[in-house]
Amino acid sequence: MRVLLLGGGGREHALALGLVGDPAVEVLFAAPGNPGIAGVAELRQVDPADPAAVAALAVEVGADLVVIGPEAPLVAGVADAVRAKGVPVFGPSAEAARLEGSKTFAKEVMTAAGVPTARAYTCTDAQSVGRALDEFGTPYVVKNDGLAAGKGVVVTDDRDVALRHAQECGRVVIEEYLSGPEVSLFVVTDGEAALPLLPAQDFKRVGDGDTGPNTGGMGAYAPLPWAPPGLVDEVLADVVHPTLAEMRRRGTPFAGLLYVGLALTAAGPRVIEFNARFGDPETQVVLALLETPLGGLLHAAATGTLAAHPPLRWRDGAAVTVVVAAEGYPATPRTGDVITGADHPGVIHAGTARRAADGALLSAGGRVLCGTATGPDLTAARDAAYALVRGIELAGSHHRTDIAATAIDGRITVPD
Ligand code: AMP
Repeated sequence: MRVLLLGGGGREHALALGLVGDPAVEVLFAAPGNPGIAGVAELRQVDPADPAAVAALAVEVGADLVVIGPEAPLVAGVADAVRAKGVPVFGPSAEAARLEGSKTFAKEVMTAAGVPTARAYTCTDAQSVGRALDEFGTPYVVKNDGLAAGKGVVVTDDRDVALRHAQECGRVVIEEYLSGPEVSLFVVTDGEAALPLLPAQDFKRVGDGDTGPNTGGMGAYAPLPWAPPGLVDEVLADVVHPTLAEMRRRGTPFAGLLYVGLALTAAGPRVIEFNARFGDPETQVVLALLETPLGGLLHAAATGTLAAHPPLRWRDGAAVTVVVAAEGYPATPRTGDVITGADHPGVIHAGTARRAADGALLSAGGRVLCGTATGPDLTAARDAAYALVRGIELAGSHHRTDIAATAIDGRITVPD
């Protein structure tokens, strides 16, 4: 199988490693890729969000499968353009990707499908914003309606901060606060059949103890020792299958990766958000534990044959990833600094570039690298991931020191 992978972040480096680990994958191309992905794939300089350019590249390289990593190409209709050329693609159509592209659309689908989620209002003016904030009370949850790279959500007790975020975004979804531990569940689907991956947890806030602003994600671990037995089956029955059925009913079936972000509240699991692609950095830990060949799995979803796919196999043990972020991230990340100590198995490239003059590795994004490791249990995996992070030198960089700590210490409780 010849595979073309779109994107150039940590998620795509993890996907690339998974794909080349599948004996059925003969060649991997990536556009644009990154210096980490360059170690396992042939890079092509094509804008991944340009539908015509990607479709042409897929034909040129003779791709049997195109895997779309980030959300922007999906919302731009890249999957539609590639499919129109007769090339199987892992990733939903632009219409179906609206589950991620518009929080209002996602709420409409959830309501129609009877999916448990936070009550919410879409607001475009100060008056309706004020009314919604007062109805739900603190903590206030204000979400940019469109794509915001994981940073469009403000959760605050400060009414002025909530009002300002709403004003800056223009169109927002204001919703009730969901209290309880969060779970990321990835589901591979061809629109009808659905195969859940291992639940994971990520860390959205920049600082230890979940302090500071939201980020794209500062670390993750899997599996979740504290997750109630039966959680995945419950989410498949109450969330995933009703949502897939509603998308089929609308004539826009969702095929690809349905990311279900959940809060486990006292009233049961509630959907915080849907995404239309793998989450970053949870992908790094989930794929580190997946034993089933990745290319075959994604190809089955892309060709509508997932019902015939064998059950997924998982490695024993646990995986942890810790993000090394650039100075100033998430507000104003500094880029262009030299990185050393990154050349180790398990170091995933998220925002890096090579200096043309001498090939030195440079920081090129807010989230720069992820130290990713597996181990017989969470403690061993965590210690190995931090050992990788300690070996990385990047001036001004920062990382959280408490990834997986509450799970290891048994401090996460699911409300009854
Ligand atoms: P989202 O981009 O929708 O995943 O939101 C980013 C983060 O904001 C989530 O991971 C949660 O930590 C938090 N969040 C979003 N919506 C809610 C909610 N209704 N209640 C509590 N926290 C939320």
